[in-house]
Order: sequence, then structure tokens, then C-alpha cells
Amino acid sequence: MAVKSIPEEYGSLVFNDRVMHERLPKDVYKAVRKCIENGTHLDLEVANSVAAAMKSWAIELGATHYTHWFQPMTGLTAEKHDSFITPQEDGTVIMEFSGKELVMGEPDASSFPSGGLRATFEARGYTAWDPSSPAFVKDGTLYIPTAFISYGGQKLDKKTPLLSSIEALSDEAVKMLHLLGHPEVTRVNTTIGSEQEYFLIDKDMYMKRKDLLLTGRTLIGAPAPKGQEMEDHYFGVLKPKVSEFMHDLDEELWKLGVPAKTKHNEVAPSQHELAPVFEKANIAVDHNQLTMEVMKRVADRHHLACLLHEKPFEGVNGSGKHNNWSLSTNTGKNLLDPGKDLGNNTVFLVFLVAIISAVDEYADLLRVSVATAGNDHRLGANEAPPAIISIFVGEELEAVLKAIDDGTEFVTEGKKQMGLGPQVLPHITKDTTDRNRTSPFAFTGNKFEFRMPGSSLSCADPSIVLNTAVAEELSRMYDKLKDVPQDQLDEEIRKLLKEMLDSHKRILFNGNGYTDEWVAEAKRRGLDNLKSLPEAMPRLVSKKSIELFGKHKVFTEEELNSRYEIFLENYTKTIHIESLTMQEMVRKDFTNGLVKYMKDITDEVIKKKQFMPEMKCTYERQILSTLENTSEKMAVSLDKLEADTQTAEKETDALRAATYYHDTILADMDELRASVDAAEAIIPEGYLPYPTYGELLFALR
Ligand code: ADP
Ligand code: MG
Repeated sequence: MAVKSIPEEYGSLVFNDRVMHERLPKDVYKAVRKCIENGTHLDLEVANSVAAAMKSWAIELGATHYTHWFQPMTGLTAEKHDSFITPQEDGTVIMEFSGKELVMGEPDASSFPSGGLRATFEARGYTAWDPSSPAFVKDGTLYIPTAFISYGGQKLDKKTPLLSSIEALSDEAVKMLHLLGHPEVTRVNTTIGSEQEYFLIDKDMYMKRKDLLLTGRTLIGAPAPKGQEMEDHYFGVLKPKVSEFMHDLDEELWKLGVPAKTKHNEVAPSQHELAPVFEKANIAVDHNQLTMEVMKRVADRHHLACLLHEKPFEGVNGSGKHNNWSLSTNTGKNLLDPGKDLGNNTVFLVFLVAIISAVDEYADLLRVSVATAGNDHRLGANEAPPAIISIFVGEELEAVLKAIDDGTEFVTEGKKQMGLGPQVLPHITKDTTDRNRTSPFAFTGNKFEFRMPGSSLSCADPSIVLNTAVAEELSRMYDKLKDVPQDQLDEEIRKLLKEMLDSHKRILFNGNGYTDEWVAEAKRRGLDNLKSLPEAMPRLVSKKSIELFGKHKVFTEEELNSRYEIFLENYTKTIHIESLTMQEMVRKDFTNGLVKYMKDITDEVIKKKQFMPEMKCTYERQILSTLENTSEKMAVSLDKLEADTQTAEKETDALRAATYYHDTILADMDELRASVDAAEAIIPEGYLPYPTYGELLFALR
């Protein structure tokens, strides 16, 4: 068979626009396009026609089942597969799929986290087709992206609020653009490109580590003699095994229509990154979820394990997911492109100031949106931005903003050319948004890059907050400007921007975000430093949050309360499992190795003494006494962890429980780990039933 070219393979498993154009009757195709572009509803007749086309297309690709694919509050995706078969009287079957089955599903909602919504409402939940994200075929099943809501209409997932926030932002942005003289714009899309970091390790080794298997991160483990200090991994040559994995991954993603674009080694040993070409937010979020799943599957096929946890290893960098975010009009204009005459680009400046104000005013909600037990290990740990939100805009934008603030004229300097020395090298224009890698929220040329999200997070979480907060700022700006006569509009806009900058410029910070000076400076500026999930989470149910999300119909107060419960519970459960796993690993696996090694040395000493009574055995005794001392400490810490975990189990209040897990259990685990790691560092490899850091991080070839 001839090898298919990439353009032929790309999207070959996706029910995309091309397929719809080919297979749907003209009027049906038009109705679906209208629905996707303008968010209009589809009637059942259209759905029936789409379902029939989808079914025959999927069957040609080998599908036997369909599933409503949704994103419950577990942070993962969920699916229940139904086959197309309908038995007939004569003992045969036909393959059926109706419009009703396409549009709506009814999974039992009672086993998904609902944070109390379940108690007051029926357990029934509904999945509803999201026509704006294309269906696809994977492993013999037709996947239909859906929203997941309760019987009473409450949002039980991450897609529904994301869609609401995208609509809210579009509505406000369109109003503003009309006011600014762009009546041709009818919709503004949020765009997202998410850079996904991950680790790859040998599968056999992975299977031998209970901590990685059960919690996604190593809970004990002495550092390897080498870490990331040589800075030799970032952008380094790909090892053959890794390269084969990445190649396979790209191909699978391309078939599914996921535009995987860039791949490279990251800073830590065995750490890598994949970045796609950006897409409309809703699709980008679905595609990122899909990417994470496919990564794991392809890794497995290559006898590897793909780790998506935020902090799989102590002492080397953890993994994040940079969320690149921008706004573009249905007429194809990126609203965050400063253009050539930045100082006079009113549209850009209005949106820029709206974003700055939104990030300052709702910084705590952005922080909440990236809070997970895993990500807490990264933020502020000198590898990722601190838990303080600030914005980096770069020199040029800062100069414009200062000019607005001072009421002076801004003169565009034009891009500077960089002399590269040797004549053979091309001239390169200097990027004025010189990359500040330490900023959590950075302007990078024509988009913002939010760098706080953890590697396993759904991009929906931070986008929901950002979209809604920017919608709110735009809405307030519109209210202030809507009645201004045309000839005074420019002046009033300048005044308004100045006013807003005055109140929000404290969030702008171009310096090094990893320093202690910044922590102190941020405090002086009154910026929040919410270090952990339990500290941050109450902000989700604050009056300000309830008002914001309520006004833009993204979350009701009840939905916020339910999410608050779910996030706290998830945090508590995560650390609870970590504690139990650590106790088991230390008691059974580690202690076994420790005792065996101590016994072997003792036997050795006894033997030596029998053979030559005058032998001192200084070194053996030294090892024995060090191990003895550390195991004493270890026993005390282990008992404390066990007792405190039992106390924790009794706490019924969600916030108090989470706080206790943070303050007490995590501290207990750190203490226990210190003595285990100290002992592990001198125990020879063969004694432990699991691989060490050195093997885990450096074994792949
Ligand atoms: P870096 O690692 O330097 O941040 P990458 O090229 O790895 O840069 O990632 C940049 C990401 O930003 C890519 O996923 C890209 O698609 C995305 N991106 C570019 N333009 C936009 C935009 N207008 N909206 C959203 N994301 C964008
Ligand atoms: Mg980046």
C-alpha cells in the first residue's frame, strides 16, 4: 500500500468541515456551520441527518460504537461506549444512530464529583453534543464531544462553563469593537495554544514504584549524583527511544486533527515538551485532553511511562502547561497584535488595559484556577513562577502604558535590528517583548502566556477565569464610554485607560519573579501571595467571585460552592492517598531493604571478628550506626504520620481538612522522607525493590 502523505493523514479520523461538506446535504451543512459560527441551536431534523452521516463515516473507519465524551470535575475525560447495533426480528442486526442519540446522552451522574449538587437534585445527568468541537474516531469508537449537566441544569463539567465564558467575552468584545468603529465584527474567539510538559521513563521501572503508580509522583528517593545542573538536557539531542515515541505521537495526534507542532527536550533529565498550533479555545481544550491521553497510550506502546504529574521528582524541575491565550475576530484579526503604530492602536490598547485590569482585580481567582495538590509543589519553588500573580509586558508596552499614564505622546521607535556579527547571517529584528521566563503572565508579542498552570490541569480552568474577568472589564468600560459623543471618544478613552492603569499598574512587573525581593515588593504593593490550595480556595466563593461569575452566567453561587467543595475534597483525598502509599512503601518495601542490608553488614562484622578478632570494622560500624540513627528517626516520623493521618480522616469540614493535610500531613511526609532518603543514599541498589532516582531519570537510551 502506498504510504499516505501527512496532508492526507491529517484529520483523517475527524468528522471535520471537509467531511461535513462532502457528506451532508447542503442545507444541513449550512445549518451546522451557522450553529458552529454563531452558537445557534440545531433542530432535531438536522441532528438526524448529521447523525446518519456521522454513523456511516465512522463505520467506514471501523467504528462499532459511539460515546459521548465529556469532562467531569475529575479533571479527566469520561466515556461510556454504546454500540450501533439494533437487533432485528430475524436474528440479524442493523447499525443505527439517531439524532437524539447524537444530541443527548444520559449517563448516571451520581458517581462523578458534584460537590453537593447531588444531594439536592436528582442524580441524573445529561450529556449534550457540542457541535463546535468536531467528533472523531479512536479505537473503533466514534467520540462525540459533549457538555455534562445535571438534571436541574447545573454545570457538572469543565466544558459548559468554558463555553459560557467564551460567549460572555465574545459578547462584550463585540460591543466594544462596535463602539470603536468596527461594526463588521460579529464574534470574537478566544484562542489557546498550550505547551505541554511531561516526563518519559522506562515502563518496567515505573511498574516497580508504588508511589508513581498510585500517586503519580515519587514520595521517597535520594537525589541522583547528577540532576539538571549541567543544563545539558534543554533542547538537547533527542535519544532514539524518545524520538521514536515523539514521532509516533505526532502521527497519532495528526490523524486526530490535533495540530502538534513543536517538540523538544525540557530542562530536567527525561523531561520533554509538546506545543500545538493554537486553536479556538474550546477545541484547544478538547485537543489538550486528547493529547494527554494519547501521550500515555503511545508511551505504553513504546514500553515507556508518560508522567503528567506536576512534580514527579524532588530536586529537578516539575512540569507545567503554558497557556498561550489571545483574542481574534471572526474577520481574522488578532486583537492582541500591537501592529506598527502601537501608540495609536486604540483597539489594542483598550483590550490590553482591560486584560491588565482583569488580571489585577481577579488575580486571586486566576490563582485558584491553577491550584491543585500537584501544582502546589511547583509554584514558588524556583522553577516556576511564584504563587504571586504579576504581568510582564516588556519594554515597549511599558513605555506606551507610561505615556498613557503620564498623558504624554508615545513615539513608536520601530523595531531594532540586531547585528549578528558574521555577514553571512541574516538580519534579525529584535523582539521587544524580550522573554521574561520568570513571569507568571507574560505578553509575548501577540498573545499572553499564562505560565502557572500545572502539566495535568485542563486548560479550561484558567481560561474560564480569564475570559470572564476580561468580559467584566470590557463591560464596565463599555458602560462608561457608550454615551460619549463621537468627537470626544478618543479623549474619553485615553482618560479611562489612564484611570484604569492608575488603579491596576501595581500588577505590572518586568523584573525577576523568582527572587525574595519580589516577594517583599509584591507584599508592599498589596498583591496576594496565596501559597497553597487551602489558602487560595476560599476566594472562589467570595462575594466578588459570586458576582463576577453570576453576572456573566458562567457559574451560579450554588455551582461555585459545589466546585469549592470538589477542589478541597480532591486536594484532601490526593494527600491522603499519598500518605497511605508512603507509609506502605516505607514499612514494607524500604524497611525490608534496610533491615536486610543492616543484617548483611552485621553478619559480615561477626564473620570478620570470628576470623580475626582484632579487626575493628570501623567502616561497617559507621554505616550501621548511621543507619541505626536514621531508622530511629524514621520510626518516629512514620508513627507520627500514621497517627496524624488517622486524625485527619475524622475532620469533616472540607476547608479545615484541607488545611490540616497541608499544614500537618505534608510536613510529616517531608520529615519522614528526609530520614528515608538519608538512609537510601547509603544503601546499595540491589537491596531495594524499586529503582532509584539515578535509574529513573537517566536510564533511557
Ligand atoms: P515558547 O516555548 O517560546 O513559549 P512555543 O512556540 O513553544 O513558544 O509556544 C508558543 C505557543 O503559543 C504555541 O502553542 C502557539 O501555537 C501559541 N500561540 C501563538 N499565537 C497564539 C495566539 N494568537 N493565541 C493563542 N496561542 C498562540
Ligand atoms: Mg512558553
